[in-house]
Amino acid sequence: MTSVDLRWKKNVAAQDVEAVGAAGAAEIVIEPRTALDAAACDLLARYSITVRYAVANPVPGAQGAFESGDAPEGGRTGRFFHSPKAQALKEEICAVGRKLWLRGFVDGNGGNISCRVGGDEVICTPTLFSKFDLTPDDLCLVDLEGNYLAGRERPTSEVRMHLVAYKNSPQAKAVVHCHPPHATAYAICGHVPPSALSSEFDVFIGRVALAQYETPGTMAFAETVRPYVEHHNAILLANHGVVCWADTPTHAEWYVENLESYCQTFLITRQLGVPCSSIPSAKVEELRVTRRRLGLPDSNGDSESAPVPVLS
Ligand SMILES: [Zn+2]
Repeated sequence: MTSVDLRWKKNVAAQDVEAVGAAGAAEIVIEPRTALDAAACDLLARYSITVRYAVANPVPGAQGAFESGDAPEGGRTGRFFHSPKAQALKEEICAVGRKLWLRGFVDGNGGNISCRVGGDEVICTPTLFSKFDLTPDDLCLVDLEGNYLAGRERPTSEVRMHLVAYKNSPQAKAVVHCHPPHATAYAICGHVPPSALSSEFDVFIGRVALAQYETPGTMAFAETVRPYVEHHNAILLANHGVVCWADTPTHAEWYVENLESYCQTFLITRQLGVPCSSIPSAKVEELRVTRRRLGLPDSNGDSESAPVPVLS
């Protein structure tokens, strides 16, 4: 196996991986705190290059952590990533992944889930994994700039979108992205479902945003949610799917359920052949008050984003 020693580099970028990949490397060796950005991770996956961390002393109780890219003994990242608290979050993320798959909200290796921890680090799902059979050991740790910190697998490239959400909405502690069929149908048609028809929807989702289309996994794609994440906990991604954020992965998955269920129900109302009856505006205001009381963003108060077509 051709192994390339990159221990001398503080940062490994896409062009470094490109160079060793073109030279036929099967493995790179780097220091544990070497920054490995998301674009570099993508290229490592494309060239099937494994990462070996040059560490003298493994983290106690974390067998195999070094081969899988953990921090050295005593490192904050290493201690946290193998702590009981991190383990509980990883298990919650895996449970959310299973729910998404069982409900048909993800297919193939689609969708991704993350959780912000300790302010500037994020546990996220790996690239190219079905969400049904994820295990806690499959999850990765990145920083808010997308640098890979720990985990034996490579992080999803779409974590960039999650990071934009975390940076622009301090309330966001967990993000779920997936492709539920009814909500995605709206995203494909470039319309959002109307509000003021379902009390539960108005409380938990309110007004849905629609982010413009960009190629998934790119920085441009990640940036499409920036105008909306402060005021919306649910966003349709044009020609792609949905993204929801919340205080926990479980709650973010609930909002996906709320959005998908509402899109399905509204689709049925359109087949009944009679007009829908709206909630009176004074009562809509009461729902908005409830929404604010629950600490959810005031999506009706979003005056900055461009108006999107509502299918009614
Ligand atoms: Zn997707």
